[in-house]
Amino acid sequence: MRGRPLAIVGGLLAGLALSAPAYAQQFSPGSRSLGDRLMPALGNGGYDTLHYTNTFKYDPAANTMLPGSQTEITIKATQNLSELALDLRAYTVSEATIDGIAAGVARVGDKLVITPAAGIVNGREFKLLIKFSGTPLEIQDPDGSFEGWSRIPTGGFVVNEPQGAMGWFPSNNYPSDKATYDFFVTIPATHTSMANGELAARTDNGDGTTTWHWSLDYPMATYLTTATVGVFDYREWTGSTAKGKSGDPLKVYDAFEAALTEAQRTTARNTANRQDEIITWMAGLIGRPYPYESHGTVLHRTSLGYALESQTKSHFSGSSINVGTLAHEIAHQWFGDSVGPQTWEEIWFNEGWATWWAWHFANKLNGSATTTAQQFTSNYNSTSQPTRWNVAPAALASGANLFDTFPVYTRPALMLEAYRQIVGDAAFYGFQRALLDEHGYADININEFIALAKKVAQQQAGFEASNLAKLDTFFTQWLKTPSKPTMTPQAFFASTPAPGTVSGTVPATLALTLGAVPSLGSFQPGVDREYTASTKATVVSTAGDATLAVSDPGRLTNGAFTLPEPLRVELGKTSWAGPVSNEEVTVTFKQLIKATDALRTGAYSKTLTFTLSTTTP
Ligand SMILES: [Zn+2]
Repeated sequence: MRGRPLAIVGGLLAGLALSAPAYAQQFSPGSRSLGDRLMPALGNGGYDTLHYTNTFKYDPAANTMLPGSQTEITIKATQNLSELALDLRAYTVSEATIDGIAAGVARVGDKLVITPAAGIVNGREFKLLIKFSGTPLEIQDPDGSFEGWSRIPTGGFVVNEPQGAMGWFPSNNYPSDKATYDFFVTIPATHTSMANGELAARTDNGDGTTTWHWSLDYPMATYLTTATVGVFDYREWTGSTAKGKSGDPLKVYDAFEAALTEAQRTTARNTANRQDEIITWMAGLIGRPYPYESHGTVLHRTSLGYALESQTKSHFSGSSINVGTLAHEIAHQWFGDSVGPQTWEEIWFNEGWATWWAWHFANKLNGSATTTAQQFTSNYNSTSQPTRWNVAPAALASGANLFDTFPVYTRPALMLEAYRQIVGDAAFYGFQRALLDEHGYADININEFIALAKKVAQQQAGFEASNLAKLDTFFTQWLKTPSKPTMTPQAFFASTPAPGTVSGTVPATLALTLGAVPSLGSFQPGVDREYTASTKATVVSTAGDATLAVSDPGRLTNGAFTLPEPLRVELGKTSWAGPVSNEEVTVTFKQLIKATDALRTGAYSKTLTFTLSTTTP
């Protein structure tokens, strides 16, 4: 079929249209835009992509996709289609077929317009195959930065946020149209391919080339795809504590630019080794598994100057991996990648969470004394650049502002920290679980975000109507208002009206008594076992509501020695919607000791703080 003159296909279509006038009435072209306010050219309507199989035969010396390169997309029509468009700037397209039947293909700007031989009925699932060759492209963004297939001396460093995918494969290039992927990348045996998902096969073709088959069974937005090729120091390993979504040990793939010095690569390896620890820690705090089966790092000295959370393969520009940035990109795998932005208007959702988690990581696992609460205080009280507050995160001026640091990263992270302080740790992590449970592997918009934050505050922190209304004000100020929010955690509660039921005869009481904390017993080295102990907390409150929380348990320590596994504390009840007198709450402590955990003679301990608080004293 290759080389069949496309003009003939077009001629046949014209003939069909003339002889069957009903065609144009029943079927209509899919839209060539999804109407994004910030990135209006991106995305196409009338269909939903389900799966992409990208086959690349790549010559890195020439930076060229050779004949035999193609993208096959499994698509479901969501309207009667007479035509559909894809986003593609690169390549010469030699042929397009739909379920094996030749289709018309035309270029209109960055759109590849496909005209099927006959209309496609709404709901039909079909395979669109596009064959191409030529140079994959770097794409310049509205803010002047570059992405897409970014040329490196040994191949291409491939990152796409927000629109770079159209530089190297045809797609519906929009975050809300997620699909699963296979990549078959044929390159010289001296080179490495790093695409999304897990390495299903690496086949020696016997002609000096190798085909790398990467497979991702979880939905992914096009801006998170990658197929980086280069000469790398490549390794595969398995997490010792981190697990994938399925519960199997996490697979890890790392590729460091081979031309780095041995010392640089050693440093990169040491940093990348922390993926295991970081993913274990985040999954434990969030209370939901890491969303995929693998993670990995790609490090190369590119001119791009930024890192990107490409799904399951975080990319880093430069000669080293900053561990705080690694934590940021890993946090994105949950927030940004699994729970994605529905439109580019929700970019604050991605970067707010990743920034908050990087702050928390720095404080809890990387030696920084600055807590997230102190981040809030210092950023909020800073008097430098007062005009930085004049951009609302959910109302950026244009696509050139997508990655503006303060409105897109810092301010949304401050908002999340304020929300944490307002609803408490339990509901804050409960909110993250709710996001993953209700929007994981899909996307979220601002209204869904606010509604869910309020629902969690109501269900898990006992918030009543007045406080829920205040949360509306809180989110409006932090996300939509182009000025400095006045609704801080302090202001939130300072403005809570005291309930009229409190009188002189009922002194406001909020009392918490903790029973003796028993020992977890004697830890036995070399044996897998979970040690448990429990006690009672007694709660007395005359407040309208009360919330019981415990500080981050962290790990038990014995002098300089710390247990590898975190202490877990479970509270039998954490919230009350009214007053309570002498209610006993079971507090359970659990400590897992693994057979391989090294134990030091002596006593391990940790002081915890239990807090009983109220929003309606
Ligand atoms: Zn980020």
